[in-house]
Amino acid sequence: MAERECSNSSCSKESCEGCASAKQKQSFAAEMNVYSDVKHVIGIVSGKGGVGKSMVTASLANELSAAGYRVGIMDADITGPSIPRMYGLTGPAQADDNGILPVLTDNEIKVMSINLLMPDPESPVIWRGPILANMVKQFWTDVIWGELDYLLVDMPPGTGDVPLTVFQSLPIDGIVIVTSPQELVQMIVKKAYNMAKMMNIPVLGVVENFSYLKCPDCGKEIPVFGKSKVDAAAKELGLAVGGKLPIDPSLTELSDAGAFANARNPYLEAAVCALRVLDVKHETQE
Ligand code: ADP
Repeated sequence: MAERECSNSSCSKESCEGCASAKQKQSFAAEMNVYSDVKHVIGIVSGKGGVGKSMVTASLANELSAAGYRVGIMDADITGPSIPRMYGLTGPAQADDNGILPVLTDNEIKVMSINLLMPDPESPVIWRGPILANMVKQFWTDVIWGELDYLLVDMPPGTGDVPLTVFQSLPIDGIVIVTSPQELVQMIVKKAYNMAKMMNIPVLGVVENFSYLKCPDCGKEIPVFGKSKVDAAAKELGLAVGGKLPIDPSLTELSDAGAFANARNPYLEAAVCALRVLDVKHETQE
């Protein structure tokens, strides 16, 4: 765990412990539950809500799980939690003296979300920033994740106070940025990239959601929200494109039916590959 507290790959563990960025991180870093052993923590970020961050998080989780990895999803989007609904999960999550137990999806993904702890998942969460950030910290310290290869964190949207504190609280190994063609893609990607850079966290890929609609009759790709801009945005910053996700009504249907465990998503292959490479590097380092 100590080695993972500073993700600046350019410094050795010894020299890192004294560096400014490591100190800054340590002052905010939350302790992992003693019954958890998580190899990789990945943040899924977006500029605003509604661009499909949860859809991408769950899709990546499904693909990794199908590939045989042990996967968890931390729903850190406290004010707009949607992961439990997508998988048809209801609370309350069980707890024992050692911590809170995540709830398991049909495809064996461990999930923790505020909606699995609240008596009524329909009631709004009206907490202020510091309490929201503390809740996420507790998802790390108090939840018994057990052994996981990947913990995917569905981050609060934006680059404000709450996502920033979450970034500083968790030992995030890399982020995936989700955008849509409706957004000012260049600016959103740059902001997320800069936030990650400030914290020495690598960007593993940029995913464009709602990229196009495939005509069910002729197969033609229709750019409903305008021409894709993700290639240019990624190129400018030297980032990899993690995938271009079409508008796919079957994904919405599975999500709305609470049956997302059955969803497969071939469009995110590049992002999945970037995550898997992380694990290969980890294995070779050990
Ligand atoms: P966010 O987490 O960024 O707020 P969500 O992942 O909850 O956004 O997605 C917002 C809505 O759009 C949801 O109803 C979801 O089912 C739908 N959606 C997201 N991506 C797609 C897609 N590629 N095709 C069809 N519907 C999608």
